[in-house]
Amino acid sequence: MNIGQIQQEFARLESEIADGPIVPNVTAEEIRAHLQSRYDFKRSMTLDEVVADVEAMLRKWQVQVTHQRYFGLFNPSVTLASVVADTLVAMYNPQLANWRTSPAANEMERHTLGWLSAKFGLPQDSIATFTSGGMEANLSAVVVALTRKFPSYGEHGLRHLAGQPTIYLTEEAHHGFNKIAHITGLGRHCLRPIATDRHLQMNVEQLSSRIAEDLRNGFLPFMVVGTVGTTAAGAIDPLLEIARVCSDASLWFHVDAAWGGAAIISQDLKHHLVGIEAADSITCDAHKWFSVPMGCGMFFCRHPESVAQAFRSEVSYMPGKPPGVGDEASNTFNPFTNSIQWSRRFIGLKLFMALAEQGEAGYAEMIDHQARMGRLLRESLQDTGWRIVNSTPLPLVCFTRDGLVPSILLAALRENQVAWMSEAVLDGVSVVRACITSFRTTEQDIHCVVGQMNRLFSDSVPGTNNDPASTTINEPHTAIRTGTTL
Ligand SMILES: *Cc1c(COP(=O)(O)O)cnc(C)c1O
Repeated sequence: MNIGQIQQEFARLESEIADGPIVPNVTAEEIRAHLQSRYDFKRSMTLDEVVADVEAMLRKWQVQVTHQRYFGLFNPSVTLASVVADTLVAMYNPQLANWRTSPAANEMERHTLGWLSAKFGLPQDSIATFTSGGMEANLSAVVVALTRKFPSYGEHGLRHLAGQPTIYLTEEAHHGFNKIAHITGLGRHCLRPIATDRHLQMNVEQLSSRIAEDLRNGFLPFMVVGTVGTTAAGAIDPLLEIARVCSDASLWFHVDAAWGGAAIISQDLKHHLVGIEAADSITCDAHKWFSVPMGCGMFFCRHPESVAQAFRSEVSYMPGKPPGVGDEASNTFNPFTNSIQWSRRFIGLKLFMALAEQGEAGYAEMIDHQARMGRLLRESLQDTGWRIVNSTPLPLVCFTRDGLVPSILLAALRENQVAWMSEAVLDGVSVVRACITSFRTTEQDIHCVVGQMNRLFSDSVPGTNNDPASTTINEPHTAIRTGTTL
């Protein structure tokens, strides 16, 4: 593969996205009419023609999550290395279900996962697999935890148990656990929402008392979920204390670090994750803060035997064990008997190649840069009269101010192509949420966005004088340039 040419093309697309709109303005009807008129699939088209049209659609008709002023939902900008990796994977199409078919690919994944597993402080004989995302990793955690705690679960199912198994988490934990409870047959009522303190971190005293109460009432507590970087506010649960509770009560300690887990490679941030080394299992998404394209999640577990127990399968048609390996050990080589997926893509190459190219230090700098941009955003907002309502070392800022209607400000930001942010509800109050998700976001982007927000807010509140801080900011031309017309 000739990287020079690809690099040029990548740079061209990147700058076109950066100069274009962040938010689309389109209806489903408009897109459907376009597709109807061009694609009846009866006539053939040249690939050039198809690519040009598909790119035009993607450019016009989506939120550009790789834009440096997309301050959104953990969707990252992507590196050239990770894009090249996904292309190579599509080209060679390795089948990773078992080791024998794709030894090189399997070992590259193992190697990459082993590196991160060691960073988290998990024991060397832990097991890890790439997943489609955090959802699959969290589902894996629940299935393996059930398998370990209730030996009859695998053969006889939940109805064989003497009571209702229960999972403890906060309201701020990922809402995918509702679906997981549903899918596994545990039922959504198995989730025990534990109160949070004013920083939206789990109240561990209430965790302990809720577990004790459930035990008295015949429930079967089996798992606690601690989150590193909650979706709404970026909160980090008190991992060490939760680990202690889990150890005392013999419960599975799962850490959902889908977004925040990447902080483990930052010298400045990793101390906020102390306690993660005690986890029974960890979810971490490379397709969030590790800045690779979707889907690239990871599931780590310190109990390889329970993972193999949960996902075991004997089939005659799959190629056998690798040469020179006993039956027992061969199991750990085969992803299809150690994870939910069967046929599987070479998911891990994009992280492997990006890491190899950037190096650990380069990666840490990407993380630290985004953390700095988060701090700058927080300070700039504070300095110009906004109230910060969340508390986290991660680059996620929730804010409001007197007289603000978040939905109106957000609509204005989108309409003027200033930035994409979202609304979050914290303690019942609606606020604005901005998360730095691009390693390309600059100080100038932050100043420009804060300046524009001050202007838009002043304009929206009758009788408010223009905030002097906002008018002194020298806005770059790109601030509200919309590029193509929509
Ligand atoms: C994103 C996220 C998930 C879900 O992960 P997907 O990759 O979207 O499937 C779960 N938990 C947390 C904390 C997340 O941030």
